[in-house]
Amino acid sequence: MTEAEPPRVVIVGGGIAGLAAAFFLRDEPVAVTVLEGSARIGGKLAVSEVAGAPVDEGAESLLARRPEGTDLIRAVGLGGQLAEPGTTSAGVWTRGRLRPLPARQFLGVPADLAELERSGVLSAAGLARARQDEGLPATPRGDDVPVGGYIGARFGQELVDRLVDPLLGGVYAGRSEELSFEATMPALAQESRRHASLAAAASALVGPPGRSQPPRPAGPVFTTLAGGLGTLPDAVAAAAGARVRTGVMVRELARAPSGWRLTAGSAHAPEQITADAVILAVPARPASRLLAGIAGDASGALAGIPYASIAIVTLAYREQAFPRPPAGSGYLVPAVDGHPVKAVTFATGKWPQLAAAAPGTVLVRCSLGRAGEEATLQRDDTELAALAAADLAAATGVTGAPAAARVSRWGGALPQYLTGHLGRVARVRAGVAAQPGLAVCGAAYDGLGIPACVATARTAAAQVAAYLAGPHGQAGHGTGPMRDPGAARSRG
Ligand SMILES: Cc1cc2nc3c(=O)[nH]c(=O)nc-3n(C[C@H](O)[C@H](O)[C@H](O)COP(=O)(O)OP(=O)(O)OC[C@H]3O[C@@H](n4cnc5c(N)ncnc54)[C@H](O)[C@@H]3O)c2cc1C
Repeated sequence: MTEAEPPRVVIVGGGIAGLAAAFFLRDEPVAVTVLEGSARIGGKLAVSEVAGAPVDEGAESLLARRPEGTDLIRAVGLGGQLAEPGTTSAGVWTRGRLRPLPARQFLGVPADLAELERSGVLSAAGLARARQDEGLPATPRGDDVPVGGYIGARFGQELVDRLVDPLLGGVYAGRSEELSFEATMPALAQESRRHASLAAAASALVGPPGRSQPPRPAGPVFTTLAGGLGTLPDAVAAAAGARVRTGVMVRELARAPSGWRLTAGSAHAPEQITADAVILAVPARPASRLLAGIAGDASGALAGIPYASIAIVTLAYREQAFPRPPAGSGYLVPAVDGHPVKAVTFATGKWPQLAAAAPGTVLVRCSLGRAGEEATLQRDDTELAALAAADLAAATGVTGAPAAARVSRWGGALPQYLTGHLGRVARVRAGVAAQPGLAVCGAAYDGLGIPACVATARTAAAQVAAYLAGPHGQAGHGTGPMRDPGAARSRG
């Protein structure tokens, strides 16, 4: 080892958060290695072809009104690939038919009760109860409350079941009676402290009629990449210039005399890797395990973040199989209606580039699995695809078997931000901050959308860069017995 060697940063986890963290360290005087346990990088981002079109298997769209995701896309050279949705109108399949999702709502909380009435999503009784929000005194609440309970106290349970639950289900696959109001709807939680009526708070956020949002940068709310969001990980990895190793599952993390020692591989053929700083960019459960002997309280807090499993069934039909062309970008399905599919995206309707790639074909992405509904997913691929196709037929009238079907399973996919989530995250951050040269990032913390994951990655990268540039990092660097320049090299 020579004094000229840069400090080594090891990033555990090659999902978008880990890769983005590597990218944000690209101009630092450090040597970065990303260790990914599975055979491929990207985590919840992956794309493959169905009926000749590149259809995402996992995340398929990106919030464009938060800059972090699109900034990263442009920075890695994919700006020219950004693609806008062809339609943004969506539906709710409830009370016997497909109904329009009210446009002026915030994660299911209505800003406009007249529009809600016109949508037909609620029964007359449900609507009458929802209208009581306007006259009710403010609903007292402490630091955090279950989102379903609080919104139910304002508008009644039917609105929670038929609007809030499906919208939150679309993001978290979670249940509103368990999810945290403060963590899943932070903007509304804040705004609601200024209004007695929750509809008034939602209205302040979504803006007046005729405008879907208060003045913001022009452009679509959501975007994707022409070849699929699944093309992003490789581009980020290439632009990061980091060393990326797949098939390296990190089992242990321990302090070493001058930094960190990571143990990967099997118990009988372990590989030891040393680093001056470590970023854990893995889901809560592996992060909890890796921190167990180092930061007990952070590890315990991470263990309190459960995950929901889901499957995405992508079906391809000839256009003629539908009695009328599917309208809008898709629909949500309330859990109370008892259907196995929780959300459907008409991929070729939503994304013009997919329609162009598969002319005459309707591509549909069906999402199955809600928190606590793992039994739905315990079918083989053929059965699961048939279940999704039958459900789609009941909603849309599509006839005949799909021409192609693809099942993408995402076990432990989506972190559940349960009541008290913000407190748990604060405990994790405090425990990790007490460890020199250690940082965490990813979907478990401040939001599971891609821009939020990228934001945590940027913060984590800045934290380890500051540490390594500071007196502790300089002192530790190059002094300990663990600094074997070959230690971070692959054995295979
Ligand atoms: C089906 C689906 C659809 C989604 N749709 C959208 C969407 O449209 N828009 C949106 O913004 N978000 C969406 N999301 C959410 C978003 O994709 C994820 O929250 C985000 O990609 C998570 O990134 P991450 O890097 O934090 O975690 P992950 O993608 O989970 O990456 C973590 C990586 O760490 C690896 N790993 C785990 N343990 C270890 C270990 N011990 N050693 C080494 N490696 C390890 C894993 O193999 C994985 O590759 C969707 C998620 C799913 C599942």
